[in-house]
Amino acid sequence: MDIYYFDYVATTMVDEKTLQIYKDVSQKYFMNPQSNAKVNKLVNDCKIKIIDLLNLNNDYEVIFTSSATEANNLAILGRFKNSKEKKHFITTKIEHPSVIETFNELIRLGHEVDFITPDEFGIVSKQEVLNKIKKNTALVSIMSVNNELGTIQPVNEIFQQIKALNNNILTMCDYVQAVGKIKIDFENVDLGTFSSHKIYGTKGLGVLIKRKKINMEQIIYGSKTSLVPGTKSVADQVVFVNVFKKAIENYEKNNEIIKKNQQYFLNNLNKSQVKINGKNPIGLISLTLNTTANSQTIVEYLEEKKIYISTKASCSQKLNKPSHVLKAIGLNSEQMDKTIRISFSIKTTKNEIDYLVNNLNFVLEKL
Ligand code: PLP
Repeated sequence: MDIYYFDYVATTMVDEKTLQIYKDVSQKYFMNPQSNAKVNKLVNDCKIKIIDLLNLNNDYEVIFTSSATEANNLAILGRFKNSKEKKHFITTKIEHPSVIETFNELIRLGHEVDFITPDEFGIVSKQEVLNKIKKNTALVSIMSVNNELGTIQPVNEIFQQIKALNNNILTMCDYVQAVGKIKIDFENVDLGTFSSHKIYGTKGLGVLIKRKKINMEQIIYGSKTSLVPGTKSVADQVVFVNVFKKAIENYEKNNEIIKKNQQYFLNNLNKSQVKINGKNPIGLISLTLNTTANSQTIVEYLEEKKIYISTKASCSQKLNKPSHVLKAIGLNSEQMDKTIRISFSIKTTKNEIDYLVNNLNFVLEKL
């Protein structure tokens, strides 16, 4: 590769084989699934494969969306935007904006939301979540792997207890950064979301998996024949199934490779000049640097060397606003301004890490 890519958490590249699948399906199955039985079967087969890969039973269904952002919006708003009764919701302060902002919309609609503060490593306490449960709590949404810290939330442990307390409370998990890195366990989960472009699939395809019994309404209006109206890309769906299969089937091997890469990086980094945020992260390492230069300058300096990292989540980087995640774990504004995110994948090589470390150690010494 002629670039040194360390921003896999933002997005991933599509390989030739995947592009070929996209091309073949686009050419052979270009017809609309609603008017063509073969294409319709292909879409249904995709959905069945996803359910099988997650070992789910017939209680669950797959809804394709244009992104995980849309899937998160749909899961929350599709169920509750027209709820007449005032409901209570629980989520965390470190969710992706597509979850936080959707809950903010529910607040504007008159509902109540508790945003749980994690500890200094970005881990949410089970007890704190349980303490917030009320009689009218309708949904608890907690992400699996955080996209700015790499920390893994004890989602199943928390959801198991919630279900034991009140089986009517819905549980939702944003699995976007978890797929292909850890086991996806749906046992106590009613709603789960995924994104294709984070796992070497094409951009523009998200997935919501929901329990069939959860009634939802459209959040984008159009033909009433589908919860998500609009003509879908069947090629993107077939691509998703392929990359999802690889991610799910190889998560243990991938987890080992990614952790080895992370450890190799840390072993060689000049650690006296950095604070590592997050605890036992998977997929990324968040570092607060002891430099005079801020993270934006460092990112730009590294980019000149063809090294791609980021200051924080790609969606908030452009806004030039402090990261809500780093703020939630207690970093002050100077620390937030000096924090970078480096993400690793199964494709990362030792040579790439050596090149990154050499340049980063230079930055730590000189900038
Ligand atoms: N959830 C998490 C944890 C993410 O990291 C992202 C993307 O950064 C999303 C949701 C949104 O995914 P998409 O880009 O498919 O909208």
